[in-house]
Order: sequence, then C-alpha cells, then structure tokens
Amino acid sequence: MKHFPIYMAVADRRIALSGGGDAALAKLRLLLKTEARIEVYARDAAPEIHAWAAEGRLTHFARALTAGDVRNTVLVYAADEDPAQDARVATLANNAGVPVNVVDNLTDSAFITPAIVDRDPVTIAIGTEGAAPVLARALKADLEERLSPRLGLLARAGRRFRAAAEALPFGRARRDFWSDYYLGKGPQLAEERDAEAALTDLLRHHIKAEDKPGHVAFVGAGPGDPELLTLKARKALDTADVVIHDRLVSPEILELARREATLLDVGKQGFGPSTAQDHINDLIVEHAAQGAQVVRLKGGDATVFGRLDEEIDAVTEAGISWHIVPGITAASASVAAIGQSLTKRGRNASVRFLTGHDMQGFADHDWRELATPGQVAAIYMGKKAARFIQGRLIMHGAHPETPVTLVENASRPNQRVVSSTLKTLPADLADAALDGPALALLGLTPRVASASFLDTLTQELA
Ligand code: SAH
Repeated sequence: MKHFPIYMAVADRRIALSGGGDAALAKLRLLLKTEARIEVYARDAAPEIHAWAAEGRLTHFARALTAGDVRNTVLVYAADEDPAQDARVATLANNAGVPVNVVDNLTDSAFITPAIVDRDPVTIAIGTEGAAPVLARALKADLEERLSPRLGLLARAGRRFRAAAEALPFGRARRDFWSDYYLGKGPQLAEERDAEAALTDLLRHHIKAEDKPGHVAFVGAGPGDPELLTLKARKALDTADVVIHDRLVSPEILELARREATLLDVGKQGFGPSTAQDHINDLIVEHAAQGAQVVRLKGGDATVFGRLDEEIDAVTEAGISWHIVPGITAASASVAAIGQSLTKRGRNASVRFLTGHDMQGFADHDWRELATPGQVAAIYMGKKAARFIQGRLIMHGAHPETPVTLVENASRPNQRVVSSTLKTLPADLADAALDGPALALLGLTPRVASASFLDTLTQELA
C-alpha cells in the first residue's frame, strides 16, 4: 500500500483550490459534499463556480493563489491543468506544510482523492493508487446500486440514539441491538422520522430480552429438505442466539438461522466419540449459562439416536431450562421415499427403530422375532452393520429373499433408493457405494416393485 486511506476532519476548516476549469469542477463537486470552507482561486472561473459562490457554498477569489492563502488550510488542490501553475501551487503548499493534490499528477501529490460512495455519515472510499481508475468507477457503480440510498438516514438516526442504547450492557447485548436495527428493522422503515420510535421500541424489546435467562431448545431439523422443518423449528431458528448443529443438518436449513446467530458445527469428524459428547454438553451449557437462547439442532428427530438424554442431563444439572421440538425422523422420510408405510394392517403392527451401532447387544429373542415374516425395521447407521445384520437374521431363520431397501439422503435432491434383499445386501451395498446418510428398511420394498415380489414371497412362505 503506497497510499494509506484515512478520513480527515474538515468541518469548518479551510480547503484551498486553485483553478476554475473542468478539473476544478470535478474536485469541487466532491468537496462541496463536505462541511469544509472551500476557497477557490481562479481568474477565469466556470459559471458553476460563480453560481456556487452566489449560493454561499464556497468563496471565490478572482486572482491567483498566494502564499498567504495557503496558511491555515488543511488541504490544497492544484487544479489549474497547467503544469507551471500547478507546480507553483504545489510549492506554496509544500512550503506551508499543507498536503497538496496536483490533479492528474500522482508523483507530485501528497494525497489523492478516492472515488466516493456517499451515504453520509457512511462513506466508502475506493482507491487504486492511480492504477485502475476504470475499475474504481466500476466498483463505485456496483456499490451505489447495492447500498440502500437510505443507509445514511439510518446511520444518522442510529447516531442520535447511541446514548439511549447505553441502557443495554456493553458487549453482546448492545451489538445484537444494533444488528437488529441496521440489518433488520431499520431497512424496513418508510421514513427517517419513524426511526426514533422504532429504535425506542427495539430497545425496550432488547432490554426485556436481556432479563430472559438462557434456554436450550433441542430441535429436530428433519431429514434435510428445509420444507420438512416444523414451524416451531423455524421459529426457534429465527430467534436463536447460538445454533449448535450436527453434520447431518443441511446448509439450506442453517441458512434459516437468525442472521446474527453464532453457528457452531459440532459434527466435525476427528473428535473421539466420548470427548465429542462431553465437549458438546459443555458448549451447550456454557452458552445457555451466559444467557443465550441456544438451539441444539439435530438431524431428523432429536429423540432418535441423538444422545439427547446425555445433553438434557447436562443442561438440567446446570439448572438451565429446556424443551424439545420434534422433527421428522429419517425412517419417516425413507418410507415416504419408497411409497410405503411403517406399519400395515395384517403385515406388521409394530415397527422397530434399530441402530447398526449397538447391534451386538441385541437379545437373541429380538433377532428371532425380527427374522419372522412381515417384520419391519428401520435400521439407522446400518451401512457398516449390513453383514452383521444379514448374518444374524439368516441365522435366526429369516428368508434370504426378505426385502431390504436402502434409502440414502432421504428427502434431499440427491436421494437414492437401492432395492436389495438379505441375501445380496452386502454386495448391493458395496456396489451402490453410498456416501451420504443412509437408512436400511428391513421388510420393505419400494411400492412399484413390490406387488409381484411380495406375492412370490408369501407363496414361498405359505
Ligand atoms: N436423529 C436422526 C438420526 C441420527 S443417527 C433421525 O431422527 O433421523 C444418524 C443416521 O440417521 C444416519 O446414519 C442414517 O442412517 C440416518 N439418516 C439421517 N438422515 C438421513 C437421511 N436424510 N436419509 C437417510 N438416512 C438418514
């Protein structure tokens, strides 16, 4: 960086400009936006300069700039578009120790004037050190389009309200208030005069919220499709201060969290499983204890294979209040994907949710029952356990042709259904090379393919 951008205090200070032509006009248009006292020295001044002088916006001297004129100015512009004149003005400024800008002369300038996006008091200065004026103009045009013309009004109203906002404690509480104003309520205001009432209202709301103790909502995020979120889940995300989420929660859903919320991904692989859980418990408690409204967001339903009880225990132990918002579990989304129901009159009056993980601990009598015809089970995290499940079920008398349907990424755009049987399960799994979350539905087959197959099976078993 050869030029360091700073903002100079110019209100009620003098800025002298030598020149009365086009270059002078271009600079004056910018300088007139300031509260500086502008003095123009030009024998021949453009009509605009005369007009501005008549309006009292600047002072015009119809003579050349002299050493005395430069004294006590904060900036000097050499804008005569004449190298000899510009050099003379630059020398006067240099001798007086006042920074000078020589128009279109980078080398002899002590400072340069950036392209400015003006939403006073919000201003954006764009400089390229003279390297790419076209780029600077393009950036300016882009920002002009993107920034609301009322940004300045908002900031001015905000500035007037700063003292009142000190009713909120310094730090997060006050930051949240201002974010709510500048990113939420503020841009929706129709008139600047509405700003004060809106700010007062917002402040009251935030002061009330400050008194609210921390709370934890254990929220089911559903299987991935944002439209499968409950309204309660959306509302919780809308008001969350902190969202602690699993890897399974899709980015589209995280998008719905309040813009100022802190998002913490605790689903990263790499922790050992027990450390991770303790770490998660600590995080939840730590944030809620500081008064945050915490959303603990889990894939599917929070109560299904989600280690929810451990987290509730930790929260309860810390004396923090909590509640559960149910979600759509992967089993529901998976049967929906294959057009089947989890229970069916005459086929199965009960359904099991199993996890591939602690299968080893399964009682023999459960295996025996699961191996009987017509049983339905949703096997979570079943990819790895496929061979084990297959071995146990067949050992306990299950028919090798018993259908097993794998649903990967249920409800998401990349959903895949793999139709298999107990006999071919490990091979089919290997072929499918599933890499997303997948659920195995034991005893169910996709509805289109089901009719003839089930007929055969029933005949064989009869
Ligand atoms: N609480 C979650 C389950 C957590 S265990 C729920 O109620 O759905 C994680 C397992 O859930 C994954 O290994 C996978 O078997 C299953 N799962 C989660 N989301 C899934 C999805 N969109 N499609 C298929 N299976 C999914």
